[in-house]
Amino acid sequence: MVRFFARFLILCLFSIPVIGQDIIALKGGRIIDGHGGEPIVDGVIIMQDDRIIAVGSEGDTPIPDGTKVIDTNGMTVMPGLIDIHVHFDILGHSDYGHWFGTYEDRMRTDIMPAAAKAMLMAGVTSARDLGADVSNIFWLKEQINSGLLPGPRTFIAGPFLRKTATAFVSDNYKDTWVVKNPGDAREKVRQLAEMGADVIKTQDENLSEAELAAIYDESHKLGLRVASHIYAADAIRTALKAGIGAYDTIEHIGEFEAMTYDDNIVHMIVDQKVAMAATIIARDGLRQIIENPELTDDPRWVRDLPTDIYADVRKSYRATDLSKHPLYDKANKDRAGRMSKLRQLKDAGAIFTVSTDSGTRANPHHDAMWKEMVLLQVEAGMSNMEVIVAATHTNSIVMQQQDTIGTLEAGKFADIIIVDGDPLANLADMRRVKPVIKGGELIR
Ligand SMILES: [Zn+2]
Repeated sequence: MVRFFARFLILCLFSIPVIGQDIIALKGGRIIDGHGGEPIVDGVIIMQDDRIIAVGSEGDTPIPDGTKVIDTNGMTVMPGLIDIHVHFDILGHSDYGHWFGTYEDRMRTDIMPAAAKAMLMAGVTSARDLGADVSNIFWLKEQINSGLLPGPRTFIAGPFLRKTATAFVSDNYKDTWVVKNPGDAREKVRQLAEMGADVIKTQDENLSEAELAAIYDESHKLGLRVASHIYAADAIRTALKAGIGAYDTIEHIGEFEAMTYDDNIVHMIVDQKVAMAATIIARDGLRQIIENPELTDDPRWVRDLPTDIYADVRKSYRATDLSKHPLYDKANKDRAGRMSKLRQLKDAGAIFTVSTDSGTRANPHHDAMWKEMVLLQVEAGMSNMEVIVAATHTNSIVMQQQDTIGTLEAGKFADIIIVDGDPLANLADMRRVKPVIKGGELIR
């Protein structure tokens, strides 16, 4: 407590603010700071410009005269959420062939801005896009991060690195770079780093161990992490042998019906500090919509999307019988094995992130994050607090942004969400995020 007060005084001395003009305090709510310790009751957060300058309780955190005070009594105040796996170029439509065939020309005008807004409104103040058309996604990052478009702080992989191009996009839509051999893999990683990629994404399971080793090694040398989309145990073993490293992620970990991974795989995951990105909602979202079609009428989905696109997305669920869709079948078949393997990894001490794959089928940006948080609690057996820490602090480490985001403390960006509820008692309360503050700015 004394520490908070001292820190506040020091910051005041250095910033000599125009008191009352640009200082805002959030006062009264319960603060969960992202570190996983006891929440602060009757909390106070003081912000100036885009930064937090003090965090404490009402008793030990003086609020300067003239500060604009926002009452957060009865609410929970938390760090803005970080989603380490999103797609800005898809909005939850059930048919990718139709989607890219219809909307490739509307990425910049409609699709990507809608995705960005939906994430922000859902409390996602930072996001990492793992695979999109090269020119559009670098453009989007620039637009958002320079303040021209509303959206989460945006980090990107650029195109997928694969052995074969994705099938459902046109020849003009460059969402894949095909890797020919290990030398080519290194060259492509260097090229992406030069273009400003924040992370490298490997997408299929057909890259050889030598190609993966080249990608991991070159990325790590350049200070980049790698996110690898891999399901099968053999492919995971190959990636581990190829050098997937600390806080690199295995996206979609847990899939398939097998109840356990070999101990050897689990030990390597823990030893190499690889982070688990389960993306359960990307598999469970379709089951949820088929079992409750009313989810397609969520007013937030209506709010976030252009009218004609929303109607088309809704139709893709309501006018088609998806009960025979392979993803639905898989969602039901894989569930027990996924739960068992995620618990095996958690019990062994693996690092868990929150990763949604939002934008994919039946996985819209407006509810992906809170649904994934609930699923991690139910399926991986994480406590509510463990899930919250994963969604904030751990994810900031995965994105190498832990010095500026992920926890509520003096000096970090004022990326803060106020939740009308108690996520420590009920994680589904995370759906009631209101309002969102990004860089000290109230988002409405
Ligand atoms: Zn994805």
